[in-house]
Amino acid sequence: MVKVERSEKAPESLAKEAKKANGSYSGNDVVEQLKKDFNNKCYICEIKDLQDPQIEHLLPHKDGKLKDRMFDWENLFWSCGHCNGVKNQKKYEEGILDCCKKDPEQFIIFCLEENNVYVKEKNIDDKEAMITAQLVYEVFNLKNTGMRVYKSEFRLKKLQEEMNVLYKK
Ligand SMILES: [Zn+2]
Repeated sequence: MVKVERSEKAPESLAKEAKKANGSYSGNDVVEQLKKDFNNKCYICEIKDLQDPQIEHLLPHKDGKLKDRMFDWENLFWSCGHCNGVKNQKKYEEGILDCCKKDPEQFIIFCLEENNVYVKEKNIDDKEAMITAQLVYEVFNLKNTGMRVYKSEFRLKKLQEEMNVLYKK
């Protein structure tokens, strides 16, 4: 997870769609702007060039019951399906760090050792950083279903490749 510079101005369709009974938060302008702002990388696992991107709500909208959150530009994040699924757990509902507002690297230690990802909060009293570190750890390590074994290992491999490129440079 790295710092993302979100465009200040919300895509225009959001305000219009929010007024409709069954409005959509995924209009063309929203998709295009998120893709650009997030450099087409999943904000949690940082996998690149997403083939099936999803719009993730940092704070859940509870099936549309919380409309303000559903259409709030600052609550929309560019994510892969794997991370969106892993994040969809009660423990992550109200607490993860907003990487558009804070630089995760200031609050979280992230390192890769051989086949292990090590993610930990810098300050043990920082609950938000702790829960975010747990989420990032899980997207690389959660193996509670056959598909997740594959998806977590795939991301770890991509991360290792990325790190190797960095080392070579
Ligand atoms: Zn991801």
